[in-house]
Amino acid sequence: MYAFDYHRPQSLDEAARLLRERPEAKLLAGGHTLLPTLKQRLAQPSDLVDLGAIAELRGIREEGNGLTIGAATPHGEVETSELVRRLIPALAELAGEIGDPQVRNRGTLGGSIANNDPAADWPAGVVGCGAVVRTTRREIAADDFFTGMCETALEPDEIITAVHFPRPKRAGYAKFPNPASRYAVVGVFVAETDDGVRVAVTGAGPCVFRLTALEQALTADFTPNAVDGIEVDAAELNADIHASADYRAHLVKVMAKRAIQKALG
Ligand SMILES: Cc1cc2nc3c(=O)[nH]c(=O)nc-3n(C[C@H](O)[C@H](O)[C@H](O)COP(=O)(O)OP(=O)(O)OC[C@H]3O[C@@H](n4cnc5c(N)ncnc54)[C@H](O)[C@@H]3O)c2cc1C
Repeated sequence: MYAFDYHRPQSLDEAARLLRERPEAKLLAGGHTLLPTLKQRLAQPSDLVDLGAIAELRGIREEGNGLTIGAATPHGEVETSELVRRLIPALAELAGEIGDPQVRNRGTLGGSIANNDPAADWPAGVVGCGAVVRTTRREIAADDFFTGMCETALEPDEIITAVHFPRPKRAGYAKFPNPASRYAVVGVFVAETDDGVRVAVTGAGPCVFRLTALEQALTADFTPNAVDGIEVDAAELNADIHASADYRAHLVKVMAKRAIQKALG
């Protein structure tokens, strides 16, 4: 690990000021991705700005017809929240399938989506619900937020403050987990929203993506049978030691059927 200065601001304003004044600084949330990166000397920030003491970044509340989840809220709090289970149970299920209890106690929603690991679960929930990412500067629609492998629309000095999830009429999430890490080899989030059906796929490609062919098929027939009529092109999908692109294409259809079944209850 290289040397860095550590800061623990008590407010969002103070965190934003630290980031502005120190262009080589990095935000620290749960640290589950950032700290191993530092230990391996793959990053050399001048400063770490720890978000852990900023109360306004944490918590889950009902807002309008939906849920707003603070960026520094750990996955475990989403998993066990009665409010989430009542309003958007598919999100509680998604959060409960992340890693293990230790990971869910430290890893945060904001850290997960800022990192945008291709196999992370939250990007599927955020895009699947058509959520809005709130930052210290603006609101970013989910469809514009995730821009590529480990890339997002965030500016270097921009802090995610919360994510607002409109409540879908029904939704379901199914994933095929890596047996070691529990990251998604393939995960599919299906939601019927006020603006139509949305299907978001994680783990299969370099970045979360929407499966528009299935969205159209589900608009006509919201049952697992809709999956049979679509093709998933393996050409754009990931291939690694865990799964070939063809196998991932197959898993997308299997997970989509399971997610639809869950959405139907
Ligand atoms: C063993 C293990 C298993 C895991 N399994 C899964 C899994 O099954 N599914 C899954 O989805 N994930 C999994 N994860 C990832 C984990 O759940 C975290 O979501 C992830 O590590 C990032 O969240 P964090 O809070 O730890 O962020 P950190 O590591 O602290 O930060 C990650 C990045 O996000 C930036 N950042 C953090 N917060 C903000 C913010 N509010 N605004 C802007 N930028 C910010 C940081 O600067 C950094 O660049 C696993 C991790 C481990 C170690």
